[in-house]
Amino acid sequence: MESQILDCAIIGGGPAGLTAGLYTTRGGLSNVVMFEKGMPGGQITQSSEIENYPGVTGEITGMDLMIPWPEQCQKFGLKHEMVEVTRISHKENGNFIIHRGDGKTQEAYSVIVCTGSTPRRAGFNGEDKFFGRGVSTCATCDGFFYKGKEVAVLGGGDTALEEALYLAKICTKVYLIHRRDTFRASPNTVERVKSTQNIELVLNSCPDEVYGDAMGVTGVRVIDNDGKSREINVPGIFTFVGNNVNNQVLMQEDGTSLCSLNSAGEVIVDLSMRTSVPGLFAAGDIRIEAPKQVVCAAGDGAVAALKAISYVDEKLSHK
Ligand code: FAD
Ligand code: NAP
Repeated sequence: MESQILDCAIIGGGPAGLTAGLYTTRGGLSNVVMFEKGMPGGQITQSSEIENYPGVTGEITGMDLMIPWPEQCQKFGLKHEMVEVTRISHKENGNFIIHRGDGKTQEAYSVIVCTGSTPRRAGFNGEDKFFGRGVSTCATCDGFFYKGKEVAVLGGGDTALEEALYLAKICTKVYLIHRRDTFRASPNTVERVKSTQNIELVLNSCPDEVYGDAMGVTGVRVIDNDGKSREINVPGIFTFVGNNVNNQVLMQEDGTSLCSLNSAGEVIVDLSMRTSVPGLFAAGDIRIEAPKQVVCAAGDGAVAALKAISYVDEKLSHK
């Protein structure tokens, strides 16, 4: 075990974790580590465009938005460890143990869980087999491979429609497959999709199978609500069917969760981002009723950090 007890351990380096890092360090905590298994920035770095972050005009990608955030945090002393956290456990004295993927552990007075969410699999035949070989969940990452070709997009939410618009600029045609005939994406985005000439709506339909050869995907067979099937010959399908929350770090060896979760696995918090366990906070997409917006995740991170500072101050004053 690393000897020095951390004032605060932040798990995850997306908008929530980075903002928590900024506020804890700038607010006076001196020994704060953000554990991030990949590059900091979170899921928004996969977005081809963000136009609803306050104060940011002009066309920027999610990556553009996030690049300065880690540097700003480091200026105030946030330490960053590029390692996966496998579990958080609780000691009898109220402190927490951070179990790292490299086998090491670290003790902390307080923890802010900001592990966000990851794309869900849709569940059609061939999805796993061709994942990374024609099936993708990231248009900014993989869209370029389909420049000048036709592709399919699955889903009816904001992500699917926004990424369909992005792909329509690179690809000759985008088939937007959705299981209903109305969309849950914002009306403005739906209108933009409907008025884009090279997006064909394939409604009331679900993929039955993605098929291909040794080189990758060659097509997708969709079945509509009347049972009629249609083959769409495309080398790529982008699936955007929602996200699962990353709550694995809370799971204990006996199968219980460290703190209370709702039926969807989201962390139950109060307005101060406090969980059911004192000293343990949760922020961003992982919490109940998260609006799943960068600005909200960042706001949560700030709230959690301010409360973590009070918690640690109080705890250390009684030592
Ligand atoms: P995340 O961004 O998910 O970050 C969590 C971080 O935790 C990740 O970096 C992950 O690697 C890390 N992590 C997870 N588990 C562990 C572990 N065990 N150990 C260490 N690290 C771990 N929002 C908007 O406001 N506007 C938009 O236009 C917009 N567009 C979007 C487009 C796309 C394609 C997507 C996918 C999302 C979009 N969103 C948008 C939503 C927005 O990205 C999220 O609401 C926001 O990123 C949530 O931030 P977060 O910090 O809670 O979690
Ligand atoms: P989402 O809103 O949950 O939408 C998922 C879509 O996938 C839905 O249309 C759903 O259909 C469909 N779907 C789910 N499972 C399916 C399956 N197995 N097969 C076929 N289709 C399936 O997810 P999201 O679009 O990723 O958005 C997540 C959150 O981030 C939302 O709160 C969203 O507003 C937010 N976000 C915001 C922005 C922005 O503000 N610009 C951008 C991106 C994301 P049904 O509609 O029939 O359920």
